[in-house]
Amino acid sequence: MTKRTFIKCQIKCKEHGIWFDSPIYFGTQQAYSNAFTSDNLTTCPIGGEMVPCDKDNMRFEFRDGNGRVFYEEGKDTF
Ligand SMILES: [Zn+2]
Repeated sequence: MTKRTFIKCQIKCKEHGIWFDSPIYFGTQQAYSNAFTSDNLTTCPIGGEMVPCDKDNMRFEFRDGNGRVFYEEGKDTF
């Protein structure tokens, strides 16, 4: 298995079709898992509307041993 480093979480605004960095930084995936069990809202940087943060519209950014960045959708991560 390739070594990977967790970098950050991103949220998708379905209205604008863009990914943006989650302003909430919990540090670990486990913390995210716990935090997103209840309703969380964040602000879209484009339109300023409230976007719900749930597993269907979030993804994690990782970096592998070669420095390549890749993403993992939140859905089945936990
Ligand atoms: Zn938006």
